[in-house]
Amino acid sequence: MTETKPPRQGGGMPGLASDPWRSHPARILRITPEVPGVRTYDLEFSEPRVRESYRFEAGQFNMLYLPGVGEAAISISSDAATPAVLAHTVRAVGNVTDALARLAVGDEVLLRGPFGRPWPVAELRGRHVIVVGGGLGLASQRTAIEELARHRGQYASVTILHGAKTPDGLFYTVQYDAWRAAGIDIKPIVDEGDASWSGKVGLVTDLFAELRIDPAAAGVLCCGPDPMMAAVARAAAGIGIAGGDVFVSLERNMACAVRHCGLCQFGPHFVCQDGTVFAYDTIARYLAVPHL
Ligand SMILES: Cc1cc2nc3c(=O)[nH]c(=O)nc-3n(C[C@H](O)[C@H](O)[C@H](O)COP(=O)(O)OP(=O)(O)OC[C@H]3O[C@@H](n4cnc5c(N)ncnc54)[C@H](O)[C@@H]3O)c2cc1C
Repeated sequence: MTETKPPRQGGGMPGLASDPWRSHPARILRITPEVPGVRTYDLEFSEPRVRESYRFEAGQFNMLYLPGVGEAAISISSDAATPAVLAHTVRAVGNVTDALARLAVGDEVLLRGPFGRPWPVAELRGRHVIVVGGGLGLASQRTAIEELARHRGQYASVTILHGAKTPDGLFYTVQYDAWRAAGIDIKPIVDEGDASWSGKVGLVTDLFAELRIDPAAAGVLCCGPDPMMAAVARAAAGIGIAGGDVFVSLERNMACAVRHCGLCQFGPHFVCQDGTVFAYDTIARYLAVPHL
């Protein structure tokens, strides 16, 4: 079993780590429509000191704040090697995300972070890495994928199993070519095809049968809806990958992100700081509890 990293208390940026409650203004540099209802916002901190010192790791998130509207946890989805510009891929579903969708290039938002335990990307060196993203889940994994692509030679293999309900739910597909060129195998699949779709139809878990890997030397990075992550862990177990080598990222409503408010309590864990990435066998029994 591969150990996950210790919890983060507010991230790598000195200013934010010492005061994780303090938000900093960031300007919208670019807005990229991904799929219907989902946009990627490229943001740059307005204060040079913050811009120059902010660092994050794959799988971490920021709290994005719109004054008078509210605050929401959003994964950082850009390459950690270029931390001066931060991407956040957001689906408009409620107060903050709908208000964000009404903003334009040049407008400002407020950010605090980074928070959370990152994906164990470096710890999986030498192994077969399987990235399983369902729906918006891939947003929290794009940073890890960029890192895996950059250091592809250090891994036995890297495979992305990318699932969505329908073809128009698959985003980041414009990056498939670059990821494939780096030596990553990408297997997209949709629950329901349409006239435009000539790819696979089924569940992302169906793709485990196609993997030609040594399960004892594999690691799975999975993010998606809870039932999908449980099904992925079962599919991984089905081909011999241990639960301790399956890492899942839990998204739970959270308010403080610093282990204080208790909103994201998950059994004995607090998702904001003990996660969001957990080894599956440490949280499986709580994932099975309805509405937890
Ligand atoms: C660690 C972490 C990372 C995340 N990363 C991302 C990410 O990268 N991208 C992303 O898009 N999201 C992400 N999320 C999810 C995001 O934080 C939530 O969707 C958040 O609630 C959005 O805030 P909001 O104010 O826009 O929505 P809210 O207003 O809080 O609404 C949230 C949900 O409640 C429902 N709702 C809202 N109002 C009502 C109502 N009156 N009656 C019934 N239902 C209602 C909405 O339909 C929606 O499903 C992440 C969450 C976590 C914890």
